[in-house]
Amino acid sequence: MNSRLNLSISEVKGIGEKLQAHLNELGLFDIHDLLFYFPYRYDSYEIKPLTELQHEEKATIEGQLTSEPVVQFYGKKKSRLTMTLQVDQFAVKAVMFNRSFAKKQLSAGDTVTVTGKWDQHRMQITVSQYKKGSAQSQEPIQPVYTLKESVTLVTLRKVIKAALEDYLEDVEEILPEDTIIRYKLPKRQQAIEQMHYPQSRVLLKHAKRRFIYEEFLVFQLKMQLLRKLQRESTTGNAQNYDNERLTEFVQSLPFELTGAQKRALSEILQDMKNPYRMNRLLQGDVGSGKTAVAAIALYASITTGRQTALMVPTEILAEQHAASLQEMFGDRLRIALLTGSVKGKQRRQILSEIKEHHVDLIVGTHALIQEEVDFNRLGFVIVDEQHRFGVNQRRTLRDKGLHPDVLFMTATPIPRTLAITAFGDMDVSVIDEMPSGRKPVETYWVKGQLTDKVLAFIQKQIKSGQQAYVICPLIEESDQLDIQNAIDLYDQLSNIFEPGVHVGLMHGRLSNDEKEGVMHSFAANEVQILVSTTVVEVGVNVPNATVMVIHDAERFGLSQLHQLRGRVGRGNVQSYCILLADPKGDVGKERMRIMTETTDGFELSEQDLKLRGPGDFFGRKQSGMPEFKVGDMVHDYRALETARQDAAQIISGNLLEKNHEYRALKQMIEKDPHISGKVLD
Ligand code: ADP
Ligand code: MG
Repeated sequence: MNSRLNLSISEVKGIGEKLQAHLNELGLFDIHDLLFYFPYRYDSYEIKPLTELQHEEKATIEGQLTSEPVVQFYGKKKSRLTMTLQVDQFAVKAVMFNRSFAKKQLSAGDTVTVTGKWDQHRMQITVSQYKKGSAQSQEPIQPVYTLKESVTLVTLRKVIKAALEDYLEDVEEILPEDTIIRYKLPKRQQAIEQMHYPQSRVLLKHAKRRFIYEEFLVFQLKMQLLRKLQRESTTGNAQNYDNERLTEFVQSLPFELTGAQKRALSEILQDMKNPYRMNRLLQGDVGSGKTAVAAIALYASITTGRQTALMVPTEILAEQHAASLQEMFGDRLRIALLTGSVKGKQRRQILSEIKEHHVDLIVGTHALIQEEVDFNRLGFVIVDEQHRFGVNQRRTLRDKGLHPDVLFMTATPIPRTLAITAFGDMDVSVIDEMPSGRKPVETYWVKGQLTDKVLAFIQKQIKSGQQAYVICPLIEESDQLDIQNAIDLYDQLSNIFEPGVHVGLMHGRLSNDEKEGVMHSFAANEVQILVSTTVVEVGVNVPNATVMVIHDAERFGLSQLHQLRGRVGRGNVQSYCILLADPKGDVGKERMRIMTETTDGFELSEQDLKLRGPGDFFGRKQSGMPEFKVGDMVHDYRALETARQDAAQIISGNLLEKNHEYRALKQMIEKDPHISGKVLD
C-alpha cells in the first residue's frame, strides 16, 4: 500500500545526493516524511491593527493615500518614494526604495496594501511589497519549517511543494467517511495541502483540527488495543477468595471505608476474579485511603494461597509500609522487607523464605522485580510510584512465568488529560472522596524566610501537643549544598527551641538506620520538629504532625507542594501549611496563590499541568509521555477526549477487523512495533 509514498526523497524533483543527506538529518527519508513535515508556524501578511504591530517586525497594513507619492532621486539610479497612508485615525509614513515607477500607479485617494518592516517609534513602514487595492487577494500564508543550518527555508519549501505536486494524490484517506462527515473534517489530501500552503486561516484551522484528531485517534487506538492485547489470560488470581476472612479483616480496621473506597475495592476485586490479568491504576488524593484499599485487595489474594508484593520508590517508604501493614494485619500474614540494604546471610534467609512461601507479602523497592527473587505463586503486585510500571517490568514477570494482577497506585493525582494518554492502556479507579472528619489544611503564603511570627506559631502548636515539619528544598538527593541548608536550619532551630523542644534532622545522606531512628522518634513524638529535605515527600504518615513549613517553596512544583502538604492534616486536628517563598515570576506567584486557594489534588494537578506543560509533569523525560506533532494534549484536551471515546467504540466493536472502512487505520496501527510485536507473541 502507498508504495510511492515509501519511495526515497531522492525521487522528488530537485533533491540531489547532497540535499538528500541534509534532509535525512532532519529525519526526512521517504516521501511520506516530507509530506507530513508540517510547518511549526506561518508567515502571514495579514492585516493587523497598528496597535498590535511589533517594532522592527514584518507587518502588512492597509490604508488610503492622503496625497500623491513623492519621489526623491539620489546617488546613482537610487530613489526613495515616500507616501502617507491614512490607517484608521493614524497617519503612517511608507517609504519605498528604488521603485520610483510606483508613483505612476498610485494616486491620492487610492487604497494601498503594503508589507514591510515596521518602525513603531516613527510610525513608519519600510515597504518591500506593495499592492494597489485592499488585502483580500494578499500574498499567500507562507509555511515556516524547523530547519538545520544545512537546509534553507527556501529550499525546503521548494522540495515540499514539488513533493505535493507529484505525490499528494497517492495519500490515502484513513478516517472513515462518517467520521469525516460527523466532525466536518477536511479530507486527508486536502488537509495536507492546507497545512503547507493554507489558502486562509480558516482552512488552516480545519486542516489542523483534522490532524489533531487523527493523531489522537491513532494514539488512543494503539493504547487501547495494547490494553486489550495485554489482557493475558489467567485463571483469575483471586477467583475463590475467602470472603469470611476478608470481611473479618475489613471489620478489624479502625474505620469504615468511604463510598469511594468501597467502589474502587469492588472494581479491583472484580478484576481479580475474572480470567484476565488486572492492569489497573488506582488514583486518589493524598490521604484518601488508597493504601487501605490496596491492602484489602492484597489480602483477598492471600486468602487464595497466593504470594503478593508491594513495590515502592524508596527504602524509607518500604520500611514504613512494611511496619504499618504489619500493624494493620497483625498475625494474619507474614511480611518480608527486602531492600538493597538487606545483605548477606539475612538476605539469603529472606530469599529462601520467599521461595518456600513462608512469607505472604514482600515489601521492597522497584528493584524487587528485577532481582534474584524467586516468588512462589505470585498473584498480586501493588506498584506505588510516580511514573509507570512499564512493558519491561511486565515482561520480566512474564519471563519468570508469572501473571500477577497489577495494581498501580499514584501518589500524585494525575490530571485526566494525562491519565488518558500516559495511562491509556490501563483501567482506572478513582477515590474521589476523603474520609470523613478530615479538616482541609489551612495554607498560608509568607514572603521570605522564617519570621518570628511563624516561629511563634510553631511554638504554640507544639505547646498544645502537636508536631511540625520544616522542609528544605532539595533538587538532587546528593546535592551537598542543599543538605547543608537543612543542617544549618536544623542548627538554627535547635538553638531557638532546645532544650524544651526536640528537633530532628532528616536527609538522604543519612544511613538507613539513622533515617529509621529519626522517623521513629518523630512518630513517637520524642522529636517535635522534624527538619527534613524532601525525603518525607511521599507516604510518610505521622498524624500528630499538624504544621508543615516549606522553605523556598517557589522551588517546588504544585504537585510536589501538595504532596508535602499531604503529610499534615492526617488526623482530626486542624492542620496548617506555611509556604515561605519569594517567587520572582508570575508563574511562581500563581503557584503560591493556587496552593492557598485549593486543597483538591485533582484541581491542583490540572493547574500544574497548565503551568508546566505535559513534558515536565512527571519530572524530566523519564515518564515516557507521548509527544504529539500537531496536537497539544492540554490545549486540545477536548479533541483528545473525543478521540478516546471514539477509539473505545472502535475497539469494543472490533471495527478494525470487521469494517472495511477502517482498513487503512488498522494497517497504520499495526505498523507500531509494540503492537505488531504483541500480535506475534
Ligand atoms: P493514601 O495511601 O491514599 O495516601 P492511606 O491509605 O495511607 O491514604 O490513608 C491515610 C490515612 O487515613 C491512614 O492513616 C489511614 O489509616 C486512614 N484512613 C484510610 N481510610 C480511611 C477511612 N475510610 N476512614 C478514616 N480513616 C481512613
Ligand atoms: Mg483478573
